[in-house]
Amino acid sequence: MLFDTSPSCDAPLAGIAKLAAESPVIEAKQRVEYFQIETRSFVGRCSGTRMPFVWTVNPYRGCEFGCKYCYARYAHEFMELRDPLQFERKIYAKRFQPDLFRSELRKVKNGESVWIGTATDPYQPAERRHGITRQILEVLATQRDLKIGITSKSDLVARDAQLLRTIRERNMVHVNLTITTLDAQLARLVEPMAPRPDLRLKAVRALTDAGVGVTVLGNPVMPFITDSEQNLEAVCMAAKEAGAMCFSAHALFLKPCSKAVFMPFIEKLFPQLIWKYRALYQENAYLRGRYPEMLAERVDAIVQRHGMSRRDPSYIPEQFAESQLSLW
Ligand code: SF4
Repeated sequence: MLFDTSPSCDAPLAGIAKLAAESPVIEAKQRVEYFQIETRSFVGRCSGTRMPFVWTVNPYRGCEFGCKYCYARYAHEFMELRDPLQFERKIYAKRFQPDLFRSELRKVKNGESVWIGTATDPYQPAERRHGITRQILEVLATQRDLKIGITSKSDLVARDAQLLRTIRERNMVHVNLTITTLDAQLARLVEPMAPRPDLRLKAVRALTDAGVGVTVLGNPVMPFITDSEQNLEAVCMAAKEAGAMCFSAHALFLKPCSKAVFMPFIEKLFPQLIWKYRALYQENAYLRGRYPEMLAERVDAIVQRHGMSRRDPSYIPEQFAESQLSLW
């Protein structure tokens, strides 16, 4: 057995683990089960002082896209789901109550930022079934003077382009779309269930045509796989062509939960790289020293060459990852 799926102890389940265990199954596909889960609060305060947003909203627990590098897998451990693969196979949709959400928004002060999708993708396949992100946006369309952000790697976000345009009339709105490579085959390996890169670029175009600002994130940059000048420049150029205003890319980090999935993936698909990865990530989850410096220089040069901005200043993913444990 690759991963230990047994509960850590025989103590009765409590809190979110108890809620998860009692959640009714809504539907089961061959590989994925969908549950509905109660939530005490939809709008969470971000505790990290360096965070670029104050409030976070995550409509779903777990994410079917199953990116090999995903750093959010740990979140299922809170529900006593210890196999990292459960993260992409047991998806929990939070029960949405518009009136409660509206009253929760009273704690958000004018000008404070509310970011949707800081832990899991708000436009993952479950959204087509449950439409919770859409319902959240419909409530946000009744608000004013908020800074609203969304992070996704799904073209489904384009479904809401006109609604985002409406929200933008009285608020600030920005979307971060992740595109790590234009190589569809490589993307399929690394982000197996996520929409193809060309579909994501079409979504960038639909959003920018609707007047919504978009940053394309090349995160995570995987050493020796997506860190070439050619790859990064191709993504940046395509992002610009589709109307994005910013391009940003940072090196892969591997927390223990993501390492448990990513390393076997590298060993199987890129065996020639496994010793390099072991050396790079043996000591630290984050790369230090010359590599991240060189990557930053490379991205800066590309961004400048193509007249883009380096990053949307409201989102710095490597800082976000430090305090994500508090987001649930
Ligand atoms: S889309 Fe984001 S949350 Fe979903 S699996 Fe990929 S990295 Fe994780």
